[in-house]
Amino acid sequence: MSAYTNRKVVLNQRPQGEIKDGDLVIKQDPVRDLKDGEVLIKTLWLSLDPYMRPRMNDSKGYMDPIEIGAPIVGESLGRVVESKSPKYAVGDVVTSYSGWQEYSIISGDAPMVYKVQDHGIPLQTYLGVAGMPGRTGYCGLVYVGKPKAGETVVVSAASGPVGTVVGQTAKQLGCRVVGVAGGEEKCRYVVEELGFDECVDYKAGNLEQDLKDACPDGIDVYFENVGGEVTRAVAKLLNSGARVPICGYVSAYNAEDSSKVETPFHVFGALEDKPEHRFFLVTEWQDKHQEVTAHLAEQVATGKIKYRETIAEGLDNAVDAFKGMLKGKNFGKQLVRVSE
Ligand code: NDP
Repeated sequence: MSAYTNRKVVLNQRPQGEIKDGDLVIKQDPVRDLKDGEVLIKTLWLSLDPYMRPRMNDSKGYMDPIEIGAPIVGESLGRVVESKSPKYAVGDVVTSYSGWQEYSIISGDAPMVYKVQDHGIPLQTYLGVAGMPGRTGYCGLVYVGKPKAGETVVVSAASGPVGTVVGQTAKQLGCRVVGVAGGEEKCRYVVEELGFDECVDYKAGNLEQDLKDACPDGIDVYFENVGGEVTRAVAKLLNSGARVPICGYVSAYNAEDSSKVETPFHVFGALEDKPEHRFFLVTEWQDKHQEVTAHLAEQVATGKIKYRETIAEGLDNAVDAFKGMLKGKNFGKQLVRVSE
């Protein structure tokens, strides 16, 4: 056995609706010795992302469910502390799908593991606006939304890492950009700090009218992150020829029976003048990983993309932070600082 002890958050039982005490628990075990070709990574930062919740259910979505007893899936940023692979040296900083744990062993040939190139930005940004959520926002907007200068782009969950990149990229492309976010403080930040033209507070009680007022020329691109009442309000304002990249619908992720949820596909598919709409996965552009990451990192380094973070301290606080994120308690990218 190695000298290390691993702590991990595992799926103890499948949550029914919101996550409750006992669904996710912390377990501890010794780290085994490395075999030839393997690498031991110490997690520094863990990314909390909405998609992790549907993966706790027993239904197959676009990815397999997490097994009972297995660590919760997730991407992290970590440092190589031991290596028996010629590809990685002790001290390398990598992003990998380690799951929610303090140490992980990967094969040196494992896919989706990237050495972090230094662009002079904080390391954890490679899990946020310069990482998977940033690439999701950028690629989904540019390749599925296909915005043109002068068009109106609406994005929900506007203050989160995906929405932040969507909105600021659309502004750079010359669009009128309207965010939708929960609460006055987030909306003020989206306009004043991120530079969106408007931001509608869907919790203020006047969503349909407020959105109509913010989009006097209708909506040409709707970047879907949330579903539910926001989707229904957007659907009434779409222009002919509109495009809707369906990135996710977080309002339904805690549903007890996901087969009964009204999804954005139901809402947009029922329209007489249907927008061009489809679900996409960020991995469709895996071949552009390095190129898009470098672009976003450069944008962050030069202050063209601004962002916010909410940081939970230690793995012990990961579950509460995750539960909060699904209700909008996070402000910007939700991270866990696992170790210094
Ligand atoms: P965020 O950091 O924006 O967190 C989720 C946000 O959703 C919350 O902060 C909250 O913001 C909002 N929200 C929660 N419940 C509701 C509700 N009932 N109605 C409206 N909004 C709600 O998340 P990300 O930026 O990381 O992710 C955004 C979306 O992108 C998610 O749907 C996610 O699943 C998806 N995604 C998809 C990928 C893909 O490849 N297709 C890859 C990565 C992410 P507020 O307080 O403003 O309501």
